[in-house]
Amino acid sequence: MNYRPGRIFLSAPHMGGHEKNYVQKALEDNWVGTSGPNLPGLEHDICQHTNARHAVVLNSGTAALHLALRLVGVKPGDEVLCSTFAPVASANPILYLGAIPVFVESEPDTWNMCPATLEQAIEERLKTGRKPACLLLVHLYGMPAKLNEILKVAERYAIPVVEDAAEALGSRYGGHQVGTFGRFGVFSFSGNKIITTSGGGALITEEQEAAERALYLATQAKDAALYARHAQLGYNYRLSNISAGIGRGQMEVLEMRVKQRREVFNFYRNQLQHLGFEFVAEPKNCFANRWLTTVLLDPELGKKPEDIITALEEQNIEAAPLWKPLHQQPLHQGCLYYGDGLSERLFARGLCLPSGSNLSDEDLEKVVQSLKRALA
Ligand SMILES: *Cc1c(COP(=O)(O)O)cnc(C)c1O
Repeated sequence: MNYRPGRIFLSAPHMGGHEKNYVQKALEDNWVGTSGPNLPGLEHDICQHTNARHAVVLNSGTAALHLALRLVGVKPGDEVLCSTFAPVASANPILYLGAIPVFVESEPDTWNMCPATLEQAIEERLKTGRKPACLLLVHLYGMPAKLNEILKVAERYAIPVVEDAAEALGSRYGGHQVGTFGRFGVFSFSGNKIITTSGGGALITEEQEAAERALYLATQAKDAALYARHAQLGYNYRLSNISAGIGRGQMEVLEMRVKQRREVFNFYRNQLQHLGFEFVAEPKNCFANRWLTTVLLDPELGKKPEDIITALEEQNIEAAPLWKPLHQQPLHQGCLYYGDGLSERLFARGLCLPSGSNLSDEDLEKVVQSLKRALA
C-alpha cells in the first residue's frame, strides 16, 4: 500500500471505542490465546445480530469457507459451482480440498450469480454424469444475490449452498440477514471489511452438530482424550481472544457502520450520477451494506478505470479496479466457465471508490472534485 500522510483509503478500519476495553480485560485476565471469554462473546454477538443459531469465530474468512466446504462433504475431484465475479479468496478453499471450481457468471442487476446460468451449468454438468457437490455463492460488495431464485435452483437439484457473505455482513434479503440462507454462511473480519478483528472470520449455521465439528476441525481435531489424540485431519483456524475482543467492540457499532457506508454511497450517487457514473440500484427486497461503492464509467466519457484510479492516486486517494473475474485468472486456466462474459465487461468499465465509514465530509468532497477533474 502506498502510504503517504493524509491518504484517503479505499476501506480503512474504524474503531468504535470499546474495542480497547475488551482487549485490555483480556490482557489483564491473561486470556492471551485461542481461548477466553471474548470468543463465545463474539459468537453470541454474531448470533444476536444475524439471528443465526450457531456461530464459530475463526482466524479468517478463508478458513471459514474451507471448513464450510469440508463440512458439506466436498471431496477431492468434486465439482463446486462458484461465482466468477469474486476475489480469489472465495474460490481458493475449493482448491485446498482438491476439488474443481466451476465458474458461473453474474447477472446485471446485482452483479451476483445469474440463476438461469446456474441452472444451465447444473444441467450441463449432469449431462456429463457429474453432479456438483456444492454451490458457493458470493454477495459481492455487500449486495445480496438473487437468493429466492438461486435457492430454488439449488433445491431442485438438491445441491447444498454455502454463502460467502464476507463482504455482506449486515446486508439483508427479504428482511433476513444474508449468510443465514445457506447451510453455512461465512463472514470476514479482515482489516478492509465493514468491521474488523484485525484479521478473522466466522462461520454461521443452524446445525449444532456442524458448529461443533467446525470448532473441532479448527482446533487441530483434538479428540476427547487426556493425551493429544487425533483421528482426523484438523487445522489451526481458531481466532485469538485478543482479536475477538476487537470484534466485540466492532459488533456494537456494526449497524452504525452500515448506515455510514450507505450514506457514502448516497453521497457519491447524488454527486456523480449525472456525470456519466452509473450506480448499482438496490433491488426491492434487498438491503445492501454498501461495503464498497462501485461505479461504472459511461463509455461516452472515453475513460478507462485505470485512468481514473491513476488520477486519484496522484491526489493521494486510493481507489481499486473491480475484482478480476476468476475464470480469467492464470491460476484457473482451463477451468470450466458458464456465462456470457458480463463480469469481463463490468471489469473493463468499473471501479471501487473510497468507501470507509470514517471518511470525513472533506474527504468525500475531495474525491468528488478529483473525479470531476479526472474527467476534464
Ligand atoms: C475478504 C473476502 C474473503 C476472505 O476473507 P479473509 O478474512 O480475508 O480470509 C472471501 N470472500 C470474499 C468475497 C471476500 O471479500
